[in-house]
Amino acid sequence: MLLFASDIHLSAHRPAAVAAFADFLSGPVRSADRLYLLGDVFDLWLGDDDDRAPHPEVEDALAETVSAGVPVDLIRGNHDFLLGDAFAARTGCRLVDEPHVIEVMDERAVLLHGDTLCTRDVEYQAFRRYARDPGNQRAFLARPMEERAREAAKIRATSNSRTRLKPEDIMDVTGDEVVRVLSECGATSMVHGHTHRPAVHEIHLANGPAVRIVLGDWYDRGTVLVWDEAGCRLVSPETLPA
Ligand code: MN
Repeated sequence: MLLFASDIHLSAHRPAAVAAFADFLSGPVRSADRLYLLGDVFDLWLGDDDDRAPHPEVEDALAETVSAGVPVDLIRGNHDFLLGDAFAARTGCRLVDEPHVIEVMDERAVLLHGDTLCTRDVEYQAFRRYARDPGNQRAFLARPMEERAREAAKIRATSNSRTRLKPEDIMDVTGDEVVRVLSECGATSMVHGHTHRPAVHEIHLANGPAVRIVLGDWYDRGTVLVWDEAGCRLVSPETLPA
């Protein structure tokens, strides 16, 4: 059984999500063959020296999961793209680049956070290129933590005010980009998060049917994708056997 989750957005402001994620890791995840975390596990990660609550306790819970024998593969999201090697070393999580192609139940699936699929949001894609530049990241990480936090708060405020002015469809994935990535990866399934619009979408590719599975956030109740011999389904984590 494989488990997938994203957009948990862990922060000190969401103690319920922190508790739900800890229960998920110490319960259902222990009987999984692997856990895939597809980005935005943390609401804001300012570098691997970012030890604000609840980061240390989440790291401990992840480390215990990996020690218990369940590998955890993690793709960075647009809120925690600064997760780095020190985090990986402390937790045992494996950081994987996107798009990440896996073989599951005789199918090929492509995993990604989902922000790269929102190609109509040109403004965001420009910011993403800037933020993902290794030189820019080095410069940012060299600044004192308080400065990084101030800068991040400024970026978030600007992004929130702009998001309110953008039409809904610009904030969603672009259909053509979904088809392009699926074709390029030779995959018939895609799993991503980011949009917080959990759903299973049927897609028609030139060579047959495909499916796009969107994970939800953990603001209210979490969403988990279970993939086993019985197929794949989106469920709430508390419905899974512990
Ligand atoms: Mn996101």
